[in-house]
Amino acid sequence: MSTTSVVVLSGGLDSTVALWSTLFHTSLHNSAERVIAVTVDYGQRHLREIGAAQAIVDWYRLHTPKWVKSNEQPKSPLEHVIIAAPSLGQALPGSALTDRRTAVPHGHYAAPSMVSTVVPNRNMIIASMAAGVAVAHDADRLVLGVHAGDHPIYPDCRPEFVEALQTCIRVGTGTDLYVIAPFIDMPKQKIVEIGTTLGAPMELTWSCYQGGNKHCGKCGTCVERREAFNLAGVTDPTEYEE
Ligand SMILES: [Zn+2]
Repeated sequence: MSTTSVVVLSGGLDSTVALWSTLFHTSLHNSAERVIAVTVDYGQRHLREIGAAQAIVDWYRLHTPKWVKSNEQPKSPLEHVIIAAPSLGQALPGSALTDRRTAVPHGHYAAPSMVSTVVPNRNMIIASMAAGVAVAHDADRLVLGVHAGDHPIYPDCRPEFVEALQTCIRVGTGTDLYVIAPFIDMPKQKIVEIGTTLGAPMELTWSCYQGGNKHCGKCGTCVERREAFNLAGVTDPTEYEE
């Protein structure tokens, strides 16, 4: 039986490895499989993530993924849907991720100061849009890249949210869509390990909450990213300002 998976792709590390993991698993089946990445422009204070998401999809289309061993072995096609909702950010003032008047906090990702990076109801909004795409394409699975390190600060990254989301989508659409969060109980270094094993282009991903040409190295998500590569014992391909 063929299946279709929709993966929310922000352009960050976690969602990119979630996409690679999905592409790898679909390649294990012989039947035709579709993978659709969904990226949402929700009015982030910078658009680096959106460009990263496009670059990651382009990479997959132009290269042979690590698990493809011969010319005869096809790779799953990857479609990319970008939803433009840039005015949403203005409607959600106060978050450091959507409001330029709010400073991006420095320090550890799990520190209380990181609460200013919460975008109200962000994952419900984005997952809801992606669920619409999934139902429109008769998809079986909706894949989210949330992980255990998100839990302290972001309520919409916790297991109870993912469970409730699945119930909500099923009740609201009359489908049996599975909501899968493969990293929900994993620390970020484990995601780096999986990304390394699968050959995900982690150097193309963007984590930093600031814009700029390089990762700042000081904001919560830069600190977390650097720590994850360190703990995984994997050379960090990221260029940091400091
Ligand atoms: Zn940063």
